[in-house]
Amino acid sequence: MAGVRNDKQDAAGGGVRFPHLVAQERAADVLRRALRSGRLPHAYLFLGPEGAGKEAAAIGLARALLCDKYRDADAGGEAVLPCEECPGCAQSRRLTHPNLRILFPLPKPKEGGGEEIREEYSTAQQKRIDEVLAAKEQDPYTPLSVPGGQEILVEHIRALRREFRLTSFSGEWRVVLISQADRLRLQAANAFLKLLEEPPKGVLFLLTSSRESRLLPTIVSRCQTLRFPALSTERIAEELQARLDADRGTAELAARLARGSWRAATEWVRADPAAEIERAVEVLRILVKGDPGEMDVEVDRLASGPGEAFARLLVVLADWLRDVMRYEADPERYAHLGRSQVLVKFARHCAGRPFEQAIEAVDDARLDLERRVQPALVAHQLFFHLRRLLFAPMPAVG
Ligand SMILES: [Zn+2]
Repeated sequence: MAGVRNDKQDAAGGGVRFPHLVAQERAADVLRRALRSGRLPHAYLFLGPEGAGKEAAAIGLARALLCDKYRDADAGGEAVLPCEECPGCAQSRRLTHPNLRILFPLPKPKEGGGEEIREEYSTAQQKRIDEVLAAKEQDPYTPLSVPGGQEILVEHIRALRREFRLTSFSGEWRVVLISQADRLRLQAANAFLKLLEEPPKGVLFLLTSSRESRLLPTIVSRCQTLRFPALSTERIAEELQARLDADRGTAELAARLARGSWRAATEWVRADPAAEIERAVEVLRILVKGDPGEMDVEVDRLASGPGEAFARLLVVLADWLRDVMRYEADPERYAHLGRSQVLVKFARHCAGRPFEQAIEAVDDARLDLERRVQPALVAHQLFFHLRRLLFAPMPAVG
């Protein structure tokens, strides 16, 4: 058969393949079986942490359903889906298939936007939206996020409802991907619930969320949920070497820092994790010395650089402090990990200090950055806390 990849799992699963989904074999099997049996629910809800592969799976499933061979044969028959040869596959690969809708949090259109919301976006905004979708086409792990995109707009849900009312099932599947379904705020969520209560025939809703607690229970109860757990560090390291040709050392470092997220792992591989660790250690050195002038220079440097660089530094810093804590707890065992002398020296220097609080301070700084607190303020506060927790003279006893 043309187009078949040499992949045991795909062959055994009866045709549907998820070439871009990393790990998550269990979820993929559930979806393969559902597609093959022809008994798909009206709506799936994919839950799991960011970067675990929810949207890679959703796009893979959508593409299989929208492949012309899925319609032609009975539930796809023996065909490999998506076949990558039919016109439907060409369109779904580019995420431009007319029966595929992708909704994600967008900025509010201007007042009086009316029916045609897209036209109300400024050229710059529309460009950003198109760029994000183009990046998603290249890598389904790319987050669908644009500046100012806070919620899924009720106008878009209403437009869907109108459309589904006006057109009847023609035998072709339609798939609606709702990315970050926890961003359906009240109005949009209610409009969407009406859709789910009377699900249009031949429409599959695919919802994704990494914030389960923020989902409306009424929405959750109408979806079939499927979980995408965080990936193991070992698996990420293996896949980085196999898929991205990363060398083993870099892959292992990136996998650790990624904390279960394939997306984060691919970003770390590109960012040179060893250099990032050097940089974090340099910041700690400056804090140990505690020279106010030097610390101010460092605050400026962090605040004026790209936001992602600061955020990455914080991830590395927290990871490094966790390592120090592990070393302190069990130096013997740690010796086998063969970590740097710098770390050992640092651990001795800060013995008995409240590392957990220091890690919390770093995590707080990361959240502040996400909330768009001024980077200079974040850096300044973080330095103050770390100095106090890790390096300031201990109060004299008695
Ligand atoms: Zn096809």
